[in-house]
Amino acid sequence: MSRYDVVVVGAGPAGLSAALNAAIRHKSVLVIGPVMSEKLRRTARIDNYLGMPGCSGEAMLTQFRDQVAELPVEFLEERIQTIYDMGDFIGLLRENGEILEAQAVIVATGISFGNTIPGERRFLGRGVSACATCDAALYRGKAVIVVGYNAHSAEDARFISEVAGRTTFINRTGRPVQLGDTIRVIEDKPIAVEGDAAAERLIFKDFTLEADGFFFVRDAVKSDELVPGLRLSDDGIHAAVERDMSTNLPGIYACGDITGKPYQIAIAVGQGQLAGLSAAEYVTKRAASHR
Ligand SMILES: Cc1cc2nc3c(=O)[nH]c(=O)nc-3n(C[C@H](O)[C@H](O)[C@H](O)COP(=O)(O)OP(=O)(O)OC[C@H]3O[C@@H](n4cnc5c(N)ncnc54)[C@H](O)[C@@H]3O)c2cc1C
Repeated sequence: MSRYDVVVVGAGPAGLSAALNAAIRHKSVLVIGPVMSEKLRRTARIDNYLGMPGCSGEAMLTQFRDQVAELPVEFLEERIQTIYDMGDFIGLLRENGEILEAQAVIVATGISFGNTIPGERRFLGRGVSACATCDAALYRGKAVIVVGYNAHSAEDARFISEVAGRTTFINRTGRPVQLGDTIRVIEDKPIAVEGDAAAERLIFKDFTLEADGFFFVRDAVKSDELVPGLRLSDDGIHAAVERDMSTNLPGIYACGDITGKPYQIAIAVGQGQLAGLSAAEYVTKRAASHR
C-alpha cells in the first residue's frame, strides 16, 4: 500500500484548507471523510465569511471542494476509526480494517455534542443552535430558551439575553444558578423540541414552552477518542495545539472546531492553512533528515 505524505481526516472547511495548502507544497495528499459537513449542510446562510456574503453552507463547501479537486488531491469518502503513531509512520485504521500510512496527519474532524434530545438535531440551523456567540444576534428582540448543561451555560444565557430578547434558562447544570431578574430560570428536564418548518416549542413532561430560538449549551465530546494519546487543552475537550497547529504527537496536526471555540468557518480555514503548511514542512524536513 502506498504511503501518503499527508492524510487529512475530515473534509470540512478546516480539512479542505489544509489539503489545499499541503498540495500546493507538492505533497501527496489524501482527504478522508464525508463529502458534506453536516454543519454546513444545515447552514442556510453565512454572512460572516469574507467575499461570499449570503452564501449557503452547502454552496460554500462545494466551492471549497471544487477548488481542492483541481489539484492532485485524492478523496476517500469514509470515516477513520483510529489514528496511531507507529513510530516510522502514522497509521489510520479504515472501516474495512485496513491501515493507511502517512508521514503526517491533519485531524480536522470538527466536534460533536453526543446525546441530544429528540428534535434537536432535526431543527439544528432552523431555530436550534449550539453556539451562543454565532447565533444570538439572529434572535434580536425575540423569545429565546437556553437549555444549559455545562458550567459555562449560565454565562452564555447572560450573553444571549443581552443580544437577543426575552430569555428563559432551563437549568440542567446540576447546581444552582444566579441570573438576576431579567432571565427566567426553570429547573426541569426538557424531553423534545417540536415544530413544523422550524423549532417552535420545548416539551416537558407536564408543560410546553414556546420560543423563537432554542440554544442547547453542552460540552462537546472529548477530542482524543480518535487519536489515543492526543493531549487535550485545559477544558479537557478540545485538542491542544501550538501556533503551527502541531499536537503533542509528532507529525499529527489538528485544526478547526476540534481545537476549540469560537467555532467559525474563517477560523477553521485559517487554522487549516497553518496545519497544511506545517505538515508539508514536517514532511520536507523528515525527507531531508533521511537522506
Ligand atoms: C447550524 C450552524 C450554523 C453555523 N453558522 C455559521 C456561520 O454563519 N458562520 C460561521 O463562521 N460558522 C458557522 N457555524 C460553524 C461552522 O459550521 C464550523 O465552525 C465549521 O464547520 C468548522 O469546520 P471544521 O472543518 O473544523 O469542522 P466540520 O465542518 O464539522 O467538518 C468536520 C468533518 O469531519 C468529518 N469527520 C468527523 N469524524 C471523522 C472521521 N473519524 N473520519 C472522517 N471524517 C470525519 C465530519 O463528518 C465533518 O464532515 C455554524 C454551525 C452550525 C451547526
